[in-house]
Amino acid sequence: MRAKLRWGFLFFPLVAGAVVLAILVTRGGWVSASREELVRPETVVIVERQYLCGEQDLVSEGSAPQVFIGLDAEELRERFLVNSGCEVESRLPAAIRLTYRVQDFCPHHRSFCHLGLKDGFMAVFQGPLGFNHRVLRYERSLREESLTPGLRQKLTQGMDFAAQPETVRAQLRRELEYSSETELNAALENIDELQE
Ligand SMILES: [Zn+2]
Repeated sequence: MRAKLRWGFLFFPLVAGAVVLAILVTRGGWVSASREELVRPETVVIVERQYLCGEQDLVSEGSAPQVFIGLDAEELRERFLVNSGCEVESRLPAAIRLTYRVQDFCPHHRSFCHLGLKDGFMAVFQGPLGFNHRVLRYERSLREESLTPGLRQKLTQGMDFAAQPETVRAQLRRELEYSSETELNAALENIDELQE
């Protein structure tokens, strides 16, 4: 009799615990939270492009395509976006944002170029200051050591643009960055002004 009574005491807390758990599950409590983070027909899918220079533009915004429905962010990434250079930001089930990285400058900056130093010469680089990965041409008549110390310093700072304080950046933009190669060529004809 005594043993039966002890088991009875254990039985009731177990039943109560199971009932609480069942309520949590059916009411969408913590146990079922992950099941809700899925793409639904009403989920908004936002597709954006991000350019080298940091600008973003909206490609599309609309309801989820049929093939996305029922997937969570990780499944979406694995099935459709591996090796696409696309980042997934999930606010499921409300929305999901897909950001594609474009290996080019935004339309505004695409024609930009700037002056810098490369392999001992002044060089013309594609894009705004801060992006030195694409040399358009070398100025073979302008060796680095032939430049005035002032211009040399500016070009050196321009090559390490991200490390410069904002006041220096603003000045470098005025002097070394151009909205087109034509504009840069005109400035190079007056290289003496730059050399001050
Ligand atoms: Zn840009």
